[in-house]
Amino acid sequence: MSVKENLDEIQDRVIRSAEKFGHSWEDIHLVAVTKFVDEDRILQALDWGVKEVGENQVQEIERKMEIFQGAQVHMIGQLQSNKVRKLTHGVALIQSIDRKSLLKEINRIGQRENMIFKGLIQVNNAKEEGKGGVYKEDLPELLDYVESLDHVHIEGLMNIAPFLDDPEEVRPYFRDMRNLFEKISQISYNQIKMNILSMGMTHDYEVALEEGANMVRIGRAIFGERDYSK
Ligand SMILES: *Cc1c(COP(=O)(O)O)cnc(C)c1O
Repeated sequence: MSVKENLDEIQDRVIRSAEKFGHSWEDIHLVAVTKFVDEDRILQALDWGVKEVGENQVQEIERKMEIFQGAQVHMIGQLQSNKVRKLTHGVALIQSIDRKSLLKEINRIGQRENMIFKGLIQVNNAKEEGKGGVYKEDLPELLDYVESLDHVHIEGLMNIAPFLDDPEEVRPYFRDMRNLFEKISQISYNQIKMNILSMGMTHDYEVALEEGANMVRIGRAIFGERDYSK
């Protein structure tokens, strides 16, 4: 199937799943994950109407910036502090903020460049080792730290669920994230707003949407299996 046919089908599925939570298509951010995807296929997605794209490496964002044209670019991969300075041009959202040292550097660069970075806090609620994301019990302290920073705005939460054969099995993790999201929404912060709940990928986006995600990050279902040889 073509990229556009894939997107048509995903749109149908997104609408059906989001509806179960009470969200409509307009409420949902579809982030097309373009890692390892060639220019031609990226352009087909943009032509279809994709407005947000995600990459997990800083150098790929730099390399593809021209291809992305006006689309909003999201950094979705683990981010080393020393790479933050390369994200000052046109990154709409840093989704993988998960520690103080990274926040500190983002704020420092924001101050230096006289800009405000927008980001999500990545939460590792399954406590999977080797994966990015703050543990839930460390989240309040991290949010308090954000409040002390003038050049970072947190727009919500991001989560990567464990990869299990049956996506139904990760439903409790998504539900837990939604609860966390609602709970934090009740707290009045200055630098933090719970507008975006980013969860769900090719394998599990329908379950994530049913549980209240309003941003999904989809690669393979749009572009086909990734060719890592390139
Ligand atoms: C690669 C990636 C995705 C997309 O995964 P697919 O299985 O291709 O949909 C989503 N989120 C993150 C953080 C990723 O690295």
